[in-house]
Amino acid sequence: MAVSHVIERSRIREVRAPRAGKGEYVLYWMQSSVRSGGNMALAYAFGNARTRDLPVVTCFCIDPSYPEANLRHFTFLSEGILSAGAGLSRRKIPLVLRRGDPVKEIADLAKDAAFVVTDRGYLSYHKRCRETLAREIGCPFIEVEDNVIVPVERASQKEEWSAGTFRRKMERLIPDFLDMPGDAASAGKAPDVDGIPYQDVKTLIHSGIDSSVGPSPIFRGGEDEARRRLETFIGEKLSLYPSRRNDPSQDVLSHLSPYLHFGNISPVECASRVMETQKPGMDEFLDQLIVRRELAVNFVHYNPRYDSFQGLPAWARATLGDHARDLREYTYTARELEGAKTHDPYWNACQNELVITGKMHGYMRMYWAKKILEWTRSPEEAYSTALVLNNRYELDGRDPSSYAGVAWCFGKHDRPWPERPVLGKVRYMNAAGLERKFSIESYVQRVEALIEKYGIPGRY
Ligand SMILES: Cc1cc2nc3c(=O)[nH]c(=O)nc-3n(C[C@H](O)[C@H](O)[C@H](O)COP(=O)(O)OP(=O)(O)OC[C@H]3O[C@@H](n4cnc5c(N)ncnc54)[C@H](O)[C@@H]3O)c2cc1C
Repeated sequence: MAVSHVIERSRIREVRAPRAGKGEYVLYWMQSSVRSGGNMALAYAFGNARTRDLPVVTCFCIDPSYPEANLRHFTFLSEGILSAGAGLSRRKIPLVLRRGDPVKEIADLAKDAAFVVTDRGYLSYHKRCRETLAREIGCPFIEVEDNVIVPVERASQKEEWSAGTFRRKMERLIPDFLDMPGDAASAGKAPDVDGIPYQDVKTLIHSGIDSSVGPSPIFRGGEDEARRRLETFIGEKLSLYPSRRNDPSQDVLSHLSPYLHFGNISPVECASRVMETQKPGMDEFLDQLIVRRELAVNFVHYNPRYDSFQGLPAWARATLGDHARDLREYTYTARELEGAKTHDPYWNACQNELVITGKMHGYMRMYWAKKILEWTRSPEEAYSTALVLNNRYELDGRDPSSYAGVAWCFGKHDRPWPERPVLGKVRYMNAAGLERKFSIESYVQRVEALIEKYGIPGRY
């Protein structure tokens, strides 16, 4: 893995750029990159602090009203904070917590800062927080883009049409963006700042949040756990990935998506480690990790309607509109879908897998959303139901890949197919395909074993 102390210029954006004033520290506002290792924003903060002979203070602000977040997400987040806090404290870097509106809380800490650095997020919530904070603080404010391989505006200047068009642009850029930052060390004693010790994070997530969806019994957050999963994947599954990754009855996926979503591990680190191995499966995995994942970032960055039916391409909206009144063989309400109460045992199995574990198999996600479209009264209602359920239960939900994944099932990044009822020219999937390609019954049995072991939590 190439280590560099210089952060590639196009990863850095000046959100606010007055001259640096007096201040007691450089503040790193950790939001999207909940990790101490391989963190370019932190490395940038350190480089900056060194030139001013100042210490670095790190802060994470828990926002109880973060859109669509519930106890499942907050639990995973808090495990990531404990792990990052421990990693930082080994390097004598303080991590303090605040709770509330991040703009207000970070602006308060910024009063004594010479410089504020943050990581980058792509959803409207992240963009709004950063732009509002820039108006509230007096010192320079820098954003470092370290949760993608190729920075989004560097990869493409526009919303891409398909993975094919995007892949061609990415292939020549990727080699230039594989440097990892060296681990920063403390630049002197940090002052005591007003905040809650990171060790107390669990006390911050039990009141005033949606607790209707409980923690995953399978997935635990944190950077050590993320690295363990990466190494297990490389050691045991990578070479099987090309032939078996679509098969829901097999466990050959990396399970890295929740860790990437919460920034517990850097995608640069994942890609570099996999490249080092030169194992079979490397190209197929990197295509998902880099091209598919960053195509999703491209979608939400350039399409302001990424979270609605209106964000789909015109041909997909038109064909779904033409078939909106077609007779549906089955229709279900959002509540029936949420409770896995359909006639289809494969669909019910994947919905139960999602509700119990917080992570549905990748191939079943396509089948799942296609069937929601087929069985819901209108395509608009289907779109919002799929997104709500995805974001409510998936640990990796509320991510650019959530919006691109659902949109793909409704035609985004795809092409028109032969026309048929209800789906029009949008690609169709059926249960016979699952039966033909996979041992789908053993997937259903695996989910039944999960139900037996953990029960179906919540509201049914
Ligand atoms: C309807 C639908 C909803 C989806 N919702 C989400 C979501 O909420 N969050 C999310 O992260 N992904 C989502 N995806 C994309 C994909 O299914 C998951 O990223 C993948 O299943 C995660 O499991 P893994 O890490 O074990 O995957 P692996 O196969 O091991 O892939 C490695 C990494 O590549 C990336 N990746 C793989 N497939 C895709 C893809 N199709 N699009 C974008 N990136 C991909 C992910 O970062 C993943 O962690 C969705 C796909 C669909 C069709």
